[in-house]
Order: sequence, then C-alpha cells, then structure tokens
Amino acid sequence: MIITIDGPAAAGKGTLAAKLSAKYDLAYFDTGMTYRAVGLAMTLDGKDLQDEALAEDYAKHLTFEQMHALSKNPAFRSSKNGVAASIVSAMPKVRAALLKMQQDFALSPVFADGSKAKGAIYDGRDTGTVVCPQADFKFFVTASPEVRAQRRYKELQEKGQDTPYAEVLSDIIARDERDRTRSTAPLKPAPDAIIMDTSNLDIEAVVKKAMELIDAKR
Ligand code: C5P
Repeated sequence: MIITIDGPAAAGKGTLAAKLSAKYDLAYFDTGMTYRAVGLAMTLDGKDLQDEALAEDYAKHLTFEQMHALSKNPAFRSSKNGVAASIVSAMPKVRAALLKMQQDFALSPVFADGSKAKGAIYDGRDTGTVVCPQADFKFFVTASPEVRAQRRYKELQEKGQDTPYAEVLSDIIARDERDRTRSTAPLKPAPDAIIMDTSNLDIEAVVKKAMELIDAKR
C-alpha cells in the first residue's frame, strides 16, 4: 500500500504520517528532507543557493546516507534551512535530479533498521501529483498560515530555538507562496486527494478520520 500526504509547512503531515506508518506497517519517506539536504549542503559549503547548475549537481550526487547524516545537523530543521530548501526546490533541474531517489523508495520500502515494510508513506508537496500518482490513498493536509506558524513556533521553542513568532509566520507565508507559484510541481492537491483542514481539528481527530477512510476502502 502506498499513501501520500501533501500540504504546506507545519500542517500536521509528519504527525499523521507517523501514526499511519505505525498502524499499517509502512516505511516513511519525508521528501522535504531531500530538498533540505541540498539546501544545507550548499549553505555549509558557502555556495550560492540561486546557482541552479550547482544546486542540480548537489542534487544529482545526494545519497540516502548523506541525507541522513545531514539531518543530524541542528540547522537541518531550522526555518532558515526551510527557506533554503524552498529556493532549491523551485528549480526544475533539482526536482528532476531528486525524483528517481524519491520514486525508488516505493519499489522496495524499508524501515530505518533495514527491515522490509508492507508499503510506503510519503510526505511532501507533490508526492500525490508527481512522485507517486499511483498511490492507493492521497491526503492533502492544510491549515491557516497563522495556525501553522503557531505550531512551528512552539516546536522551535521546545527545541530551544528562539525565533520570533512574526519571523516564523513570514517565513511560512513566503514558503507557501514559493511552493504554490513555482512552475514545476507546484503545491496543490491531486484531483483524487482527500482534503483535511486541521485549523480547527486536533491531530487525533485527523488521524481517526484518515484511518476510517483507509479501513473502509481496504
Ligand atoms: O516539508 P519541509 O518543510 O521539510 O520541506 C522543505 C521545503 O522543501 C518546502 O518548503 C518545499 O519548498 C520543498 N518541498 C518540495 N516538494 C516536496 C517536499 C518539500 O518542494 N515534495
């Protein structure tokens, strides 16, 4: 079984994916990590994020192992690296270079410890539209920018990162705009995606609804 969960930053995709992965024995691929890895690798090397040929080169050489190694860097999940990721992700050549790695995961999905999974669950912006259009279930999870910024702000505070709320909100709005308006794989629900607005729903209710829909169809 393949499930895709797309939507804007901090909408609750990761939490929903973790619950569905545990219940249905699915290996999880957070595709945002591929773009964050390219953004962070370039930043650490002092490279210009606007240089598409260079960003493509970093994307072409990215391996799963490097991506996981970079994800241990405290800057990997920062707002600043989210912006870096969204800059490189707007480049068609970078997306093309990372697509195969993203698609291959569904062919033989494995957990972090190397054991085989019963399928894959993807989280991203275009996983239901481009990466896995053949997915069995597609969800599009969204919420208002203010609700998402509040959640991200709380998460950052819990990690000891003191980014002002206004900055988190403006980063989210800028990222949404870049993700929605780019020419390749813009952020939008697949025509057959189930849309879930989490602005006024707690995550447990969203998880319950998703599981009911999956169980009813299986
Ligand atoms: O989900 P996350 O915030 O880690 O994603 C970082 C950035 O990577 C997003 O803002 C988006 O620009 C990009 N991204 C994408 N396509 C995906 C996943 C993430 O363009 N499938």
